Amino acid sequence: SGTIRPLVAGNWKMNGLAGSLGELDAVKAGLSGDGLNADIMICPPATLVAAAAKAANASIAIGGQDCHFAEKGAHTGDISAEMLADAGASAVIVGHSERRADHGESDEIVMKKAQAAWRAGLVAIICIGETEAERKSGATLDVVAVQLAGSVPEGARAENTVIAYEPVWAIGTGLTPTAGDVAEVHAFIRQKLSERFSEEGAAMRILYGGSVKPANAQELMGVENVNGALVGGASLKAADFLGIVAAYR
Ligand code: PEP
Repeated sequence: SGTIRPLVAGNWKMNGLAGSLGELDAVKAGLSGDGLNADIMICPPATLVAAAAKAANASIAIGGQDCHFAEKGAHTGDISAEMLADAGASAVIVGHSERRADHGESDEIVMKKAQAAWRAGLVAIICIGETEAERKSGATLDVVAVQLAGSVPEGARAENTVIAYEPVWAIGTGLTPTAGDVAEVHAFIRQKLSERFSEEGAAMRILYGGSVKPANAQELMGVENVNGALVGGASLKAADFLGIVAAYR
């Protein structure tokens, strides 16, 4: 929409061994040539960030899937934003619904993680979205407003912050909201961002995520205020991911 350059980001979740970097090579090969009007990112598991960054060689941005909010310290098993940056990442997903559900991450923690991302020079991709029960009870916009207010730090700018609207019930289910429902929520998010961050909020990317596939990408990416996609399952195979990216050719 407008002059905002879209972003198509793949989230590999807890999938991928060294051999999976072949998919990254295939994505890279598929991007060569002109006519692509979007930035492309892959967020592999942390174990592959350094190798992926090397393989991508700046033609594909590499992101982490989570970070601790502290810079370093006694947090066994955690990874800091600084470590991701050091490994070659330029962004990190924070507040994914699987983190919120599996690890009890609150809006307050997600906000601190976004601030940690900025501290390390990373773009924070902040995920929000309602559950099925919340959607059915008509609470979607209220939930999104609370998550936006609680998870997005003061001072967010278009260059360091991306919002990903991911209805929880659409993640990994094959279900998607209608284009009209996506338009309603994205317009609401845009309004909230613009009210709070003025022109920075007006220019911030708002991604849609949840069962984006090659078959539905063109319709979903064509919705007003949808500035790209966060793609889970369909990012694991280069052919599928490239089929989604093709919405921006
Ligand atoms: C996600 O988890 O970010 C996601 C959008 O998953 P999927 O595309 O598999 O629904």
